Amino acid sequence: MKLYFIFTIDGDWDEYFSTELPRRKRRPDRKGLLWLIKKELKAARFAGGKFLHFIHTSPVTRQYFFQPDFIDIWKKIEKTGGSVGVHCHEEGLFDRGGLKDPVMLERSVRSLTGPLREKGITLISYRGGYLAFCEKVIPILERNGLFLDFSCSPGRYLHYKGRLIADWRGAPKNYYRMCYEDHRKEGKSNVVTIPLGKIRKRALYIDIMPLTDIWMVARHLAGKGKNSKGNIIVSLLTHTYEFSSVWKRLRIVLAILICRCYGKFVTDKEALTLIRTEERNKS
Ligand SMILES: [Zn+2]
Repeated sequence: MKLYFIFTIDGDWDEYFSTELPRRKRRPDRKGLLWLIKKELKAARFAGGKFLHFIHTSPVTRQYFFQPDFIDIWKKIEKTGGSVGVHCHEEGLFDRGGLKDPVMLERSVRSLTGPLREKGITLISYRGGYLAFCEKVIPILERNGLFLDFSCSPGRYLHYKGRLIADWRGAPKNYYRMCYEDHRKEGKSNVVTIPLGKIRKRALYIDIMPLTDIWMVARHLAGKGKNSKGNIIVSLLTHTYEFSSVWKRLRIVLAILICRCYGKFVTDKEALTLIRTEERNKS
């Protein structure tokens, strides 16, 4: 089998996106959020427990996810076969497709990696909020041991509040080692990006795509996998706030089951091993 999926969940909640609210009101409800993450664990059982929960950090919540209840749940995710990653919502630092303040972004990355690694949690994956990214992010990830990026959504060209924060036009549709000069090109950096599974406008973006589109993307990728020499590794995307209703959870499970017909779910660590093995075999 040559097609691999990584089931990723961005750990965001509704109030964060209500930018008109004062900062304190944009913080999550602790109990509500813990309940939602427990539902993530249940749904992930359909992917063999293999999922990647991205822990949110932003100016709204710096220390929030180090509370004992959350640390316990991050450890539980690891214990049941999943992983956690770093999700920096620092969209305010991006402009014209570039990062204005690398020092601030690195501080944001370390605000999660430092305390979580101290607690014994392994982190190798990163995803930018709103999938924001540019080549200046690559050395930051390298320095902080985040060797997999999940910010790539091929073709994405996103303006937020009048500013360009994500430009993935022309990026490959399968995983690739990023180029130091241009994150959308293959190169020699130590960071591999695993894109969101996509064909043209259809994507494995569970929240917004009909299940028929999920099916078409998975089937298309499986067909490509059969003809290609190497592996295809892509991600599926949903968010923590999507676990709020039974219907949405059912949709998420169905998306997983559809993908399972065409490929295999792996963890971020397994994906990195697959990628490194393939690179060794090529050289
Ligand atoms: Zn997010």
